[in-house]
This record gives sequence, structure tokens and C-alpha cells, in this order.
Amino acid sequence: MKIIVPVKQVPEVAEVKVNEETGTLIRDGVPSILNPFDEYAVEEAIKLRDHYGGEVVVMTMGPPQAKEALWKALAMGGDRAIHLTDRIFAGADTWATAYTLARQIKKMEYDLVICGKQAIDGDTAQVGPEIAELLGIPQICYVRHLEIDEDGKHVIAHRETDDGYDVIKAKMPVLLTATKGLNEPRLPNIMGIMKAKKKPLEEIDAATLGVPEDDLGLKGSPTTVRKVFPPERKSGGIKLQDVDAKEAARQLVEFLAKKGAI
Ligand SMILES: Cc1cc2nc3c(=O)[nH]c(=O)nc-3n(C[C@H](O)[C@H](O)[C@H](O)COP(=O)(O)OP(=O)(O)OC[C@H]3O[C@@H](n4cnc5c(N)ncnc54)[C@H](O)[C@@H]3O)c2cc1C
Repeated sequence: MKIIVPVKQVPEVAEVKVNEETGTLIRDGVPSILNPFDEYAVEEAIKLRDHYGGEVVVMTMGPPQAKEALWKALAMGGDRAIHLTDRIFAGADTWATAYTLARQIKKMEYDLVICGKQAIDGDTAQVGPEIAELLGIPQICYVRHLEIDEDGKHVIAHRETDDGYDVIKAKMPVLLTATKGLNEPRLPNIMGIMKAKKKPLEEIDAATLGVPEDDLGLKGSPTTVRKVFPPERKSGGIKLQDVDAKEAARQLVEFLAKKGAI
């Protein structure tokens, strides 16, 4: 089974600070990690490879330091890595990110593409579904349980929903996005960490990818960020306390009437 796992390097802290003047994220001094949801994707891919044979290729589009996320995925057990890296890729929105990744995936053989459900910094959960659309393959998002059908040609996935889960069967090749609960990602051991840097890691730039510059990075991005800012802190509101329910209701109606809400 050939499995491709797109992974993203993200800042370690959930609360990323924003430079309000430039509208960009302040990344200086913030340690980076492999996106936690991508760990579920890598773990699932390794388990499937160990059971069915084949290969796990981990892939990222990002600056030179994003290699560290690839090394972590290789240390967990990935077989080889692809690093799409070039200044031309910079400033990509989710579409341009997915387009770049999909153009590379199109050149490869694969049965499964497994993404994380979302990156903990960008948080859009768009890249996985966009890759599937660009490849023209089915997608099953928010997967928390996965089986390969007896025929070896279909996946049966439990997809998390607000009310429970759907059980969906799809013919491979298919793209899945992994969510918490799918497995327990392993911690790389010393041997894994030592072996990781000796595993094949291919760097691919825009010219090698063979895509015109206009379709990549900032130029290839149909969306632009107008402004980035932290949400306004809400004040505490008013508390109706030390009064019975009837009086609380009266005060609430009076308050809403003053505000013109009723
Ligand atoms: C107009 C615009 C400009 C931007 N400019 C920049 C910029 O200059 N620099 C910058 O760092 N970011 C920039 N971004 C953010 C960047 O587009 C996103 O980080 C990226 O597209 C991924 O989106 P996301 O973080 O929401 O990932 P999600 O869609 O939430 O990620 C879902 C899954 O997709 C996969 N995935 C996501 N990103 C990658 C990746 N790069 N490589 C491999 N797999 C991946 C992972 O499996 C991940 O779990 C910009 C965004 C916009 C809208």
C-alpha cells in the first residue's frame, strides 16, 4: 500500500501573537513542532504499511526549517520524505498550498493520502479537501477509525460528526483527514531519531515541480489577508444576582429594552 502523508510544521503555542502593524504572525522565538493532527495521520500510515506492506512518504511545503517536521515523521517510521521548498512558494494561501502539494502528488503512485484534520495555526481544515478535489479522488474527513475492506480495494472509515459518526466506504485511491482518537501516535525512540536523518529526503523547487510561477505562492493565491487581529476581549456583562427569578426577569427585560433589543 502506497501512502502519502502531507504534514505541516506549526508554532508550538496555541496562542500565536500577531503583529498588528504588519498583520503577520510573530514566529520569532516560538519553537516549532509537527502539527499534532498530522501525528495521527503519520501513525495510521505506518500501521497500515506495517500490516499491508508498501511505503509511507511524508511531504511538506515550507521553508528550510520545515525539514524538522519531516525528520520527526521519519523518526516515527516514515520511509522517505519530500520537501517542497522555494521562495516562490512563500505567501501561499490554502488554495496555492493545496495546488502545490497536489501537483507533486499527481506525479506519484498512491493508494491513500492521509492529512491531519487541520493545522493548529491556520486552523482552516481546507488543505486536505482541496487536495482531494484537485486530484479528483474521494475524500473522507475527520476520520477516527479506519479499516481496509477484505477486498483490499476499499477503505471503511468512521467519520466524526456533531451527532456521532458516519460509516463510509470508498474505493481507493482516497484522501482521509485524521482526527484525535484514530490512534495513539508513537513517540520516536532513539534509534528512530538516529535513522531519520539517513532516510531519503528529496528537495523540490518550483522549477523541478514544473509549475509556472504565477500559479504558486502569493501570485497563485486567490485570497489576500486584509487584516489580522486578536478578537476583542468581551467585558463581563451584567450579573443579576441576589434577586428572585421574577425580579431577575424584570431587570433583564428593562435592560434589553434600554438597549433597544426588544
Ligand atoms: C492570503 C494568505 C497568505 C498567506 N501567507 C502565508 C505566508 O506568507 N506564510 C505562511 O507561513 N503562511 C501563510 N498563509 C497561511 C497558509 O496559507 C496556511 O498555513 C496553509 O495554506 C495551510 O492552511 P492551514 O494552516 O489552515 O492548514 P489546514 O487546511 O488546517 O491543514 C490541514 C492539513 O493539511 C496538510 N497541510 C497543511 N499545510 C500544509 C503544508 N504546508 N505542507 C504539507 N501539508 C500541509 C496537513 O496534513 C494539515 O493537517 C497565508 C494564508 C493566506 C490566506
